[in-house]
Amino acid sequence: MNNITTRRNFIKSAGLLTAAAAILNPFEIFAQSRSSAAKKTAEKKLTLSWVPFDAKLRHPFTISGFTRTTTPIVLTEITWDGFTGYGEAAMPPYLGETQASVMEFLKKLDLSKFSSPFQIQDIMNYVDSVALNNTAAKAAVDIALHDLVGKIMGQPWWKIWGFNPATTPNTSFTIGLDTEEVVKIKTLEASPYKVIKVKLGVNEKTDKMMVDTIRSVTNTIICVDANQGWKDKHYALDMIHWLNERNVNMIEQPMPKLLLDETAWLSEKSPLPVIADEACQRLTDIPKLKGAYHGVNIKLMKCTGMREAREMVSLAKALHMRIMIGCMTETSCAISAAAQIAPETEWADLDGNLLISNDMFEGMKIVEGKITLNELAGIGAIKL
Ligand code: MG
Repeated sequence: MNNITTRRNFIKSAGLLTAAAAILNPFEIFAQSRSSAAKKTAEKKLTLSWVPFDAKLRHPFTISGFTRTTTPIVLTEITWDGFTGYGEAAMPPYLGETQASVMEFLKKLDLSKFSSPFQIQDIMNYVDSVALNNTAAKAAVDIALHDLVGKIMGQPWWKIWGFNPATTPNTSFTIGLDTEEVVKIKTLEASPYKVIKVKLGVNEKTDKMMVDTIRSVTNTIICVDANQGWKDKHYALDMIHWLNERNVNMIEQPMPKLLLDETAWLSEKSPLPVIADEACQRLTDIPKLKGAYHGVNIKLMKCTGMREAREMVSLAKALHMRIMIGCMTETSCAISAAAQIAPETEWADLDGNLLISNDMFEGMKIVEGKITLNELAGIGAIKL
């Protein structure tokens, strides 16, 4: 093409543009250029794949009547236009999902009908509509989708959401029910952490032994999780007063989740904040908990992933409720995804990856007890 033709084409297209601008407002021109860009990417296809994985636990893990040595996980991948996003479903047995149920759910999905991974709301609304429950399976799709979109954008989610990485809390390190000797060893192992989480709710003797044993080794702050173990509100209040004298700073799910009125009575009198875990699964649970609990523990595996967790943060804040981010026993994939939300939370219990010996990912690190976000695009994790 010679210079004259080029100039003629330029004048012609400039004229057309001016004519177009006279008819269309800038928003319409922008919408048209977007739809032509969408046409270009129409052949790019969202492809979901998965593989089961057994996470091995460093210590057998016991909470209120369950002991286990592995946690079943399903790892997911979503690919699009040369990018790969990673996700994960972690299924502690008491939640009712299994590797088989997760894979059965994932098999039902057809993501190829969506033209772009950026349609996170539409895609997750569809995933959520395919079957009830299956929240860990849904989270496995959501996390991989967020990882993919973050990688395409070249940014981590804490940055896309506009969160301040300096405001992440310290993570707690969980110590499960065990003998005095083992609890002492586990407490010493937990010395790099600024907060210890202890699982109570068995009986008064065992619960007090756990706290006294930890206190014989360290004065580190303790978060208590009773996992619905205290059935009587007067007993629960006595326990909370006893714990309040021992440098404990919050109580998670003291009573059964269905005892809402009793929990409201307890929370009103409790000197320590009372946080809902089993009682708070998804976004729609939060308004019902206002007045009965001081705050909520958000977990990706309960709430279908990062999209809804982000919405739960906003709703809890609007209702003046306090926020904790928690986890199951998970690899650094789901832990790093949850950590993206940590800057907006008051408490974090993101130690699930530290409890397993065969982590498949490297991601968010704990530095001097504090959740420390990295600059890696997406969920901030690399597959090993
Ligand atoms: Mg809990």
